[in-house]
Amino acid sequence: MKILVYAVREDEKDAFKLYQEKHPEIELEIHESLLTEESSQYIREGFDAICVSQVRAISEEIYRKVANCGIKIWATRSAGFDMYRLDLLKELGIRLVRVPVYSPNAIAEYAVSGALYFSRNFDKIQKNVQELDLRWIKPIVSEEIRKQKVGIFGTGNIGRVAALHFKNLGAEVYGYDLYPSKEAAEILTYVESLEELVKTCDIISLHAPATEENYHIFNEELFNLCKPNLIFVNTARGSLVDTKAMLKALDDKKIRAVVMDTYEFEGPYINKVWKKEDIKDEVLLALIEREDVLYSPHIAFYTHTAIENLVHIALDAAVKVFNTGKANEEVIL
Ligand code: NAD
Repeated sequence: MKILVYAVREDEKDAFKLYQEKHPEIELEIHESLLTEESSQYIREGFDAICVSQVRAISEEIYRKVANCGIKIWATRSAGFDMYRLDLLKELGIRLVRVPVYSPNAIAEYAVSGALYFSRNFDKIQKNVQELDLRWIKPIVSEEIRKQKVGIFGTGNIGRVAALHFKNLGAEVYGYDLYPSKEAAEILTYVESLEELVKTCDIISLHAPATEENYHIFNEELFNLCKPNLIFVNTARGSLVDTKAMLKALDDKKIRAVVMDTYEFEGPYINKVWKKEDIKDEVLLALIEREDVLYSPHIAFYTHTAIENLVHIALDAAVKVFNTGKANEEVIL
């Protein structure tokens, strides 16, 4: 089988090398360039699948060229697939496979680490130490996680792992989900509403997807119901949170601190180097500059294991579809 691979980042190269060592029978042609008009010159007859990872739009001509060259499988090295033209892929008879789960632990660990960072006052301690203030003083006295209540909003793949980690640290863990699960109920205690969750918990960690229903579900009204000194962690999706309302709650000292790996308007900014004067989004600048916010550019997933899984599961899914026509939960079309 021959697979044409696009948009290979430096950090993915070891994973491709390993795959190639394990599967010498699969021929991979690897390109670093994104799939664009210019790089579409590599698309030609003889390939069985194309493997892509990019959010930038792909033109209709490229989809047609893929189909015309007889390539019947499109594998994306991502969980999301909203960046691809499903209508066209369907019309052209190209099967789409993705990586539905690649490492819930990566994101869950990030959420837990961020919560611990603030609950142990690392922000204040580092600031004091850098100012050569080495005293033991009340503002840096910490809570222990075993004395805290943690709320998990969305108890799916990632939420469940986060719940387990918090529980293993001794926390009392609560959860809210539209569809409570048996597996999660063995780890946490479900509450009846999101309002109850925020009224109960000292740490809230979001693990629900962006849906119409969830748009700005964390808004001023909800922040007003939160327990004082809340540590708020969002490694899920930016649009779950009304960021201006969140900043106001921080200013009003309703929230103690925020871990924010996803921001609603992150799209144009992430994975690039910037000069401050070129960042036009004042809210993003505030997030970056505040000491009580740990902002990061959507990197909670970014571990060696997750990268390797993204590459290997996408390639395996393409191979499975090629050999058998099926690939369980990886198949979209
Ligand atoms: P999942 O589908 O396994 O779980 C999501 C859960 O949220 C489900 O149980 C669902 O019932 C629940 N849910 C949805 N809407 C809800 C609502 N209104 N109220 C209560 N519960 C609701 O998803 P997952 O794989 O655990 O991913 C969770 C989130 O993490 C997603 O938003 C995903 O995009 C995000 N994510 C972030 C990163 C990162 O690097 N920051 C990486 C991967 C995934």
